[in-house]
Amino acid sequence: MPHILIVEDEAAIADTLIFALQSEGFTTTWLSLAEQALAEQQRNPADLLILDVGLPDISGFEACKRLRRFSEVPVIFLTARSEEIDRVVGLEIGADDYVVKPFSPREVAARVKAILKRMAPREAPAVSPVANVVSGPFQVNSERVQIHYHDQLLSLTRHEFRLLQSLLAQPERVFSREQLLDGLGVAADVGYERTIDSHIKSLRAKLRQVAAAAEPIQTHRGLGYSYSPRHA
Ligand code: CA
Repeated sequence: MPHILIVEDEAAIADTLIFALQSEGFTTTWLSLAEQALAEQQRNPADLLILDVGLPDISGFEACKRLRRFSEVPVIFLTARSEEIDRVVGLEIGADDYVVKPFSPREVAARVKAILKRMAPREAPAVSPVANVVSGPFQVNSERVQIHYHDQLLSLTRHEFRLLQSLLAQPERVFSREQLLDGLGVAADVGYERTIDSHIKSLRAKLRQVAAAAEPIQTHRGLGYSYSPRHA
């Protein structure tokens, strides 16, 4: 059964999560400090982390950034304040989903299930059919998780990488936000349009730093996004 690491300093909240997750058949570990959780994830990796933003030692955001240096494990944030959501949704931090307190523990368990379900098939093929693609000024290296644009290495979050990789694999194809989100393995139930728009926005800003006048990612109003080699 998948193992879930809960990082939350409030025992009452952790208890409700442990109960809901165990009822769904997950095994759980509960820790109240981020530093402990990072050490635990290196020793004994969980399949998914539920990470409180407000922890006593370092913030959940900082913890997730450190986690991403050695692990791609899915992360769901627990946030107490709605103003934190923009940072989480911006996903500079590399989270997969978030829930705002107070939340329903069963809802969290459902999201855990959804994320793990989406993760599973992605790991199946050892060699991706779109492993290395050269399209116009873009070069994708899937093994290295790198994309070069006009010979410059882009500094991308893993979500931005996957998003751009999907677009580049099929030039001129218009992808709906839902299709793009599916490729990221993010639950599509809440605010998914905003999530994709926010990734596209930060991706475009990074591309513009390399080629200010180009617009390789095209918006199709009411439909979604496409990669246009003519505008790259
Ligand atoms: Ca807290």
